[in-house]
Amino acid sequence: MSGEHTLYLVATPIGHLDDIGLRAIDTLRSVTRIYVEDTRHSAGLLRHHDIDTPMTALHEHNERERAGEIAERIREHGDAALISDAGTPAISDPGYRLVRACIEAGVPVSAVPGASAVLAALIVSGLPTDRFEFAGFAPARTVARLGWYAALAGREHTVIAYESPHRIVDSLVDLVAAIGPDRQIAVARELTKRFETVQRGSAARVLERVSADRDQQRGEFVILIGGQASSGSMPGAIGEQALSVDTLLQALTPHLPPRTVARIVADLVGLPKRQVYARAIELSDRG
Ligand code: SAM
Repeated sequence: MSGEHTLYLVATPIGHLDDIGLRAIDTLRSVTRIYVEDTRHSAGLLRHHDIDTPMTALHEHNERERAGEIAERIREHGDAALISDAGTPAISDPGYRLVRACIEAGVPVSAVPGASAVLAALIVSGLPTDRFEFAGFAPARTVARLGWYAALAGREHTVIAYESPHRIVDSLVDLVAAIGPDRQIAVARELTKRFETVQRGSAARVLERVSADRDQQRGEFVILIGGQASSGSMPGAIGEQALSVDTLLQALTPHLPPRTVARIVADLVGLPKRQVYARAIELSDRG
């Protein structure tokens, strides 16, 4: 029956294998096929819950190419589910392109919600939850990451970022440089797993605790940045921006020519290039 078959986006655990809803298990048992990022990885979860539905790999390298054909297949052959290695599909994981292809092909798309690291981290962070922004993964390279954090520094609401294992300390160093040492942040590690930890406090304090303890550098991380407290100064005034302009200049100057540094920092903070360049000279004269 064409037009009636559905793509179910099913959330799976972010650590603890029992963090999966009853409807998710029923759906994964009843669909004709489950699209997974990695068949070997998902086999463990499916076995744990007695699910023997056939799997097909759909990952970041083939999603674009296969999305249209899979949407057609669902339409013609029957309901399917999409899961990712962990958490909610399409959240920093494949899914968006398949969803678009299904919508375009007239295939209904339905969510079976559950775990996602972004919300789990937010609710335990102790930072305001009324308004927040999910910024995705922090960039891998330090110059890009500094700029990325600096661009988020002025947000009034909580900002949430994913960070890969192995980069947590470098990332926190850049974060402190971009937002200053005193902003309240949290780092949620290994949520729902045996070594779950949440570090909370000023950015400098959290960096100190994470960098002092190798165990705190292992596993999966979410970084949460508290919103900037509103200040009375004029938007764009050098006084308001002084900390991040100075820290950015100091961080970039050893790596790039002064005019390039001034152009990047001026773009990031929205100040005239001349003014930022003058500040860079002033700082270097001071030594
Ligand atoms: N789709 C997933 C979701 O809904 O959360 C996210 C997948 S993304 C490829 C993986 C990243 O999510 C990790 O690098 C980490 O930043 C975060 N993450 C996933 N599981 C986590 C956990 N148990 N504790 C902390 N962070 C986690």
